[in-house]
Amino acid sequence: MLPEPVGRLLRASFFLFHLNHYAKSGERYLYDLKEVVLRSLAEQAGRWQEENMIRIFILPGSERVKLCSRCREKARKMGLNYSEFVRLIGGCRQCPRSAEYYSLYEFLIEYDSYRFCFHIPAELAHNWAGNSSLTMRETPAEREGFMLFGRPAFQAETRAVELTEVIAELRSFLCWLNVLLPRELESLSAVQMDTVFIDLSTFPNCQSRI
Ligand SMILES: [Zn+2]
Repeated sequence: MLPEPVGRLLRASFFLFHLNHYAKSGERYLYDLKEVVLRSLAEQAGRWQEENMIRIFILPGSERVKLCSRCREKARKMGLNYSEFVRLIGGCRQCPRSAEYYSLYEFLIEYDSYRFCFHIPAELAHNWAGNSSLTMRETPAEREGFMLFGRPAFQAETRAVELTEVIAELRSFLCWLNVLLPRELESLSAVQMDTVFIDLSTFPNCQSRI
């Protein structure tokens, strides 16, 4: 039997992973819920200190170049769109740049053979993630996702989980953390969506309903 905080965090991570799928398929407002969950983890990380389950990394983004008018004209003459031009040629010294635009915070949650990885834009999270004592500067590049037994989960290990279930699980987790949802997110559980495929049977310790 896992310690309660460990089981709850693994279970929440599992559903947060699937929330990501829904968010990426166009339900953008779900990113707000993801942010609330990750923020709560950063703020209450002490609950998992003993197991050292949560680590937060900064992934520095590549520079964002906005082409100046001369470079835009150059791009048009070369028959390139602006992002191709930036990628292939880069801007000139007059082109405005911002370094932080694509930076991410990476949340790595590990326990035993379980490993989850979540990203959130630094712009959104720097006020709370940057101050966390968990934050580290250097990191190898990770992909968002989760690993079971040291490998990515197979689709064959899956069963259908609805968005309503994902949201209910995350709300239940936040409730356990005594985190109140912002009012805009209160009505989320009414959302209907298609299903994605996941498998709870590979989470033998996390199967019971919270
Ligand atoms: Zn330029």
